[in-house]
Amino acid sequence: MGMGIGLLGFQTTIANSVTLSGTGVHSGAEVAITFHPAEADSGIVFQRMDGDQAISEFRAVSSQVGNTDLCTVLGFSPATSIATIEHVMAAIYALGLDNLLIEVHGAEMPIMDGSSAPFIEAIEQTGLKALAVKRRYIRILKPVRIESGSSWSEFTPYDGMRFEVEIDFDCPLIGRQAWKGDLTPSVFKTELSRARTFGFMRDVERMWAAGRGLGSSLENSVVISDDDTVINVEGLRYTDEFARHKTLDAVGDLALAGAPFIGCYRSYRGGHKMNANALKALMSDPTAYEIVETVTRRQRAAPREGIAVSAP
Ligand SMILES: [Zn+2]
Repeated sequence: MGMGIGLLGFQTTIANSVTLSGTGVHSGAEVAITFHPAEADSGIVFQRMDGDQAISEFRAVSSQVGNTDLCTVLGFSPATSIATIEHVMAAIYALGLDNLLIEVHGAEMPIMDGSSAPFIEAIEQTGLKALAVKRRYIRILKPVRIESGSSWSEFTPYDGMRFEVEIDFDCPLIGRQAWKGDLTPSVFKTELSRARTFGFMRDVERMWAAGRGLGSSLENSVVISDDDTVINVEGLRYTDEFARHKTLDAVGDLALAGAPFIGCYRSYRGGHKMNANALKALMSDPTAYEIVETVTRRQRAAPREGIAVSAP
């Protein structure tokens, strides 16, 4: 059924620890992070380190999300929180990685090249390992929709994990563009993972003046000039890189559900806040979803797939 988050429905972790480092986009500081294997049912856990000591620990679930103004932040106090988790969460979610401990030697994740590709590479370098516990999925049972001005987003039932993300910008370079597709690890890798974050030169200058976005550069963002052209000499990686990056962001934001969802997520003129609020609306309505251990529908006999149908 093309969910791709396979290994016969068992939870996964990584085979071995792997470290990568780069610049924090907000602080401009160098940050090293290490991915460690973790036990079944431990989920994705971030630890903020000070030397060898963990000064805080957060499970990457929506109840732990503080600020979502510029990026997604885990925690509620700047002294202990961990910022800019969305691109690494997108990579983790899309690859079907369920359990992971991430040590962060700094206050935010490194921005790398502004996409999820370096995180995919790091995870694939060590590989996934199946654990002896079944994965749980969140199956959408009925539509859940939120609106804010002209923006909206909604979950609907669907036999797979599908994203339809449409953006509509005033500037002609971006305009109206959409990415629609069923998410599998290979679709994510080839169509979404390399799409970089983007911004407008006037906003970048304003952020710099306010002492924010200090690590932001043409190495990690697509920057659009005041006369509506891409400043980066290498140009765009995809003609619709903007819609693809917004889809990547949505994947990372919905990863905070704590389990893969079976359904379709659509959004129009959305962003981190809309994604977070849509997830909140879904989770606050227990009749809108069910937790299952198989991706096939209950009504359908599924013994050939080797996954027992298990009612919640
Ligand atoms: Zn992003």
